[in-house]
Order: sequence, then C-alpha cells, then structure tokens
Amino acid sequence: MIDKKPFEIARETLKQLTTRKLPPTPGNYQSIYSEIAGVPMEHPFPVDRLRDIAQALPTKTPGQQKQCGLLESAINHMNWEGVKNALMAYGGFSPPAPAAPVPGLLPVDIAKTAPAETHSTPVVSAPALTPEFFAQIARMIEYTLPALGHDDERFLEQSNTLIKALRQSNPDAVGIKLMLAHYGHRLSFAAEDQAEIKNMLLKLLQLIIENISHLSLDDTWLKGQTDALLSACAPPLTLRRLDDVEQRLKDVIFKQTEAKARATLAQEEMRRMLTTFVARLATISESTGGFHTQLEESARLIEQAKSITEIAPVLRSVVGATRVMASDSQLARDELQGMKKRVEATEAELVRLHQELDRVSLQARHDNLTGALNRQGLDEAINREVSNVRRKDTPLCVALLDIDNFKKLNDALGHATGDIALTHLASVAREVMRPQDTLARYGGEEFVILLPDTPLDKGIEAMTRLQRELSTRFFMAGTEKVLITFSAGVAQLAVNESGMDAIRRADQAMYLAKRAGKNRVCGA
Ligand code: GH3
Ligand code: MG
Ligand code: MG
Repeated sequence: MIDKKPFEIARETLKQLTTRKLPPTPGNYQSIYSEIAGVPMEHPFPVDRLRDIAQALPTKTPGQQKQCGLLESAINHMNWEGVKNALMAYGGFSPPAPAAPVPGLLPVDIAKTAPAETHSTPVVSAPALTPEFFAQIARMIEYTLPALGHDDERFLEQSNTLIKALRQSNPDAVGIKLMLAHYGHRLSFAAEDQAEIKNMLLKLLQLIIENISHLSLDDTWLKGQTDALLSACAPPLTLRRLDDVEQRLKDVIFKQTEAKARATLAQEEMRRMLTTFVARLATISESTGGFHTQLEESARLIEQAKSITEIAPVLRSVVGATRVMASDSQLARDELQGMKKRVEATEAELVRLHQELDRVSLQARHDNLTGALNRQGLDEAINREVSNVRRKDTPLCVALLDIDNFKKLNDALGHATGDIALTHLASVAREVMRPQDTLARYGGEEFVILLPDTPLDKGIEAMTRLQRELSTRFFMAGTEKVLITFSAGVAQLAVNESGMDAIRRADQAMYLAKRAGKNRVCGA
C-alpha cells in the first residue's frame, strides 16, 4: 500500500477525475481512490440484487433448500465468502481448494462436490474439469439430440447455447453447472414427450394391425400374421423387433395386394360370364317368342283350313320352327354348360392360386409352426448382425441347438405332440432370450439363436440358462407332462468369418455336446 494520508489521496483523486475527464460519480471516485491508495476496490455489498438471485433459485430438493437458506443468511451478514460457498454448493461445486489452481484445470473432488440434491456420494479419486471433460459433455448432448426430435425450437436453441458454452477454450464451470441444471430440467420434459409419442405411435400401430385382422377374418394366414405383428410390436421395443414388424407388414401388404388383384380378376370374369348369360337368355326368349307367334299363326291357319292340303304346309312350318327352337335350346344349354364349366375351372384356379400364395407367403421369412425365422429369415438376420459386428466391433455369438431324442418323442407320443414340443421350445426361448436376440428354425428340430453384443462365455451362459429354464417347464400331451432337453453348440464370430461358417462351427460343437451325453452346451 502507498503511504499517503487520506486527505492527500482524496485531493489526488479529484485531480485525476478532472485530468481523465471522468464524471464525478461515487463509482468513479471510489475506483480512482482505491487505485491511488493501492488497495483493492471494495464494491458496496449488493444486498437487494443478491436477494433477487437467491429468490429466483429453485428449491425443489432438500439440498437446494438448505443451500438457499445458507445463501440468504450469508447475504444478511454481507458475507461474500458465505455467498460464494452457498452458490458453489448449490451448483454442486466445492469451494476452491486452498492451493492456487492450475489455469484451465479446476481441481474438483467429486466426493466433496456432490450436487446439492445428492445425499451420499461414493468417494472416488478427483478428476480434473478439463476443457476435454466439457467437450465430452457437449458430445454427449449432441448424441442425445436426434433422439429428442427437432420440433421444439427453444429446446434446440438451448442445447446449442449449452454446447457452445461447453466448447469454449476456458469454460466457466459454475455458469455451466447452472446451465446444465436448467437444461436437465427441460431435457426431462423433452424425453418424457418422446416416450409419450413413442407409446402413442405404438398404440396407433396396434390399432391399425387389429383393424387389418378384423378386415381379413376369412384369411387364416393373415390372421396369423397380424397376431404375430401385434405381439412383435408390444413393448419393450428394439430395432430388431421393429425390423421384424416391418418385414411382416411387408408380407401382409404383399398378400393383401395379391388378394385384391385376385378378387378384381374374379369379379371381371364373373361380369363377363353374366353378360354372356344375359345375352343368351335374351336370344332364348326371343326365339321362344318367335316360336310362340309362329305357333299361334299356325293354329289360326289350321282353324281356317278347309282341306288337308292347306294344313300340310302349316304343319311343315310348325315342325321346322320346332326343330329350330329345339336346336336353339340345345345350343343355349350347351353354351350355359360350357360357361358353368369355365366358372368351376376359374374357381379351382383361384383356390389353387390362393394356396400357392399362402405357401409362398409363409415361406417368406417365418416358420409356420413356431413363428421363428425360417432359413431365409435367418440368412437376412445373420447378414444384418455380421455387418453390425464389422461396423461396431462388438462380439456376436451364434448358438445351434438340437432337441435330444426327438425321434423317440415323436414315436412315443405322436407327430402332433412333437409339433407342440417345437412350439414350446420356441416360446420358452423367446421368453428367456433378450429382445435383441434372434431365434430361427434351422431344420426339423434344430434352432439357431443369434446373440449380439455377446462374447463366447456369455453366449454359453445364455444357452445354459435356457436349458435350465426348459428343464423346469413341461408341457402337456393329453394328461402326460412332457419335458424336453437339447444339446447346443456356441461359436463366437471370428474376424473375417462368415455368419454361415460360424453356424457350422456351432453345429460341430453341438455334435460334441451330443457325443458327451446330450443335454449340455459346448463352446466352439
Ligand atoms: P438326437 O438326440 O441325436 O438329436 O436324436 P433325435 O432323435 O433328436 O434326432 P434325429 O435327427 O434322429 O431325429 C429328428 C427327428 O425330428 C426326425 C423327424 O421325424 C423329426 N422332425 C423333423 N421335423 C419335424 C416336425 O416339424 N415335427 C415333428 N413332430 N417332428 C419333426
Ligand atoms: Mg437333428
Ligand atoms: Mg435331435
């Protein structure tokens, strides 16, 4: 501090105000006085403004209420240190450490800097709030944005402002903490909105599917497909299940389009036949009308005839007309019969087409009996999973399972019970597996399960879990309780290996499981 008497400092201050051509306000006076005295400038304590801020802070949680109480008490005591500490704690930051912080690296001990609303926090080592840390939050916010839609402009604006603040070269931790608190609040609403939108869309989809099934009551295939669709779009929804919904909907649309084309064709054919029939009827009634007129005329001539010679030509013309009439009728009958045959042939053709279409549609992607994917569906699914593996570099397991002694079961309880066993296995597998797993029927009593994001040990665990579950669930064949077991092989897709090669390795491992005594899982 410069050693000057207060009146000297005051005189010098007035001189400086004039020299610097500054207006003689209390603020300017104090600023120059502090400068000349060599002491830090003390601003008056802004009690009212600070109270405004304290009152604007939300006090939803007990932690926030406590810190607001401390803040108000510090304001009442004009205690800057107390104000600072209360605000830092409110925002989830601890008061600055006594040691001078490295510029740009604010040391923050997470154990001490729990947000105001947190009651207990695990003690972990202190990370530094580096610009990289803030950039990471910015990236995280950017990643979440697409999931929240683009409709709320204010929210988008707020997101961009926050991202910009986070990406500053020397971010203001306290300010950002406050921004994050507000942002979190809005984010929770936006996320709730999106969840609600998803639920509503799902409900609409279910309504549409139900409607389709009501429209197509007479079509068992469509009924089956729509039932499968309804269960496929029940929550929890995953991209894979949506994919399944899409494939099935495509099949249904294809089938509906074909059915419509068939109906139009049949309608056209019926119209054509009806037209011919009506034309034929008209000819018949015309010729019978002509015949009647001729008969009446002949009867009149016969009545008036005076000799047999006069009757003879009339009779000849009656016989002729009758012959024409008979041949016309015969012709009409032949034609009608031909038409009837053609209708029957068309009907048979339509039935055949219908069955063919059912067969083709059923074979599209799903197995008719179990509802699992069929070979074609499996081919598509495995290609999709393998390209996911290549893109995301995550492990994929393929499991192949084969029911034990299935032939014996068929022989002992009948083929129909064998079918129930297959359906039973498929439904237990679907229940036990995660939504992102895929079940496919590989052959008669063999199934393939695709397990994305799963390393080999976890894949073996998953199959063992399914085995355990199956061993506790029997199904009924008449009055008999039937339990089935399976043997399985599991292979993790190797680098550059094709999906089918991985299945082949799983198949070999499955055979090892059979040889080792069945009802077990082997890794490839
Ligand atoms: P292992 O334990 O060694 O697997 O013997 P297994 O009897 O299960 O195997 P095997 O391959 O000898 O017999 C499979 C049987 O599965 C033969 C076939 O009749 C039956 N099968 C195949 N597809 C179906 C189907 O759709 N329904 C029924 N009920 N049986 C089927
Ligand atoms: Mg087999
Ligand atoms: Mg078998």
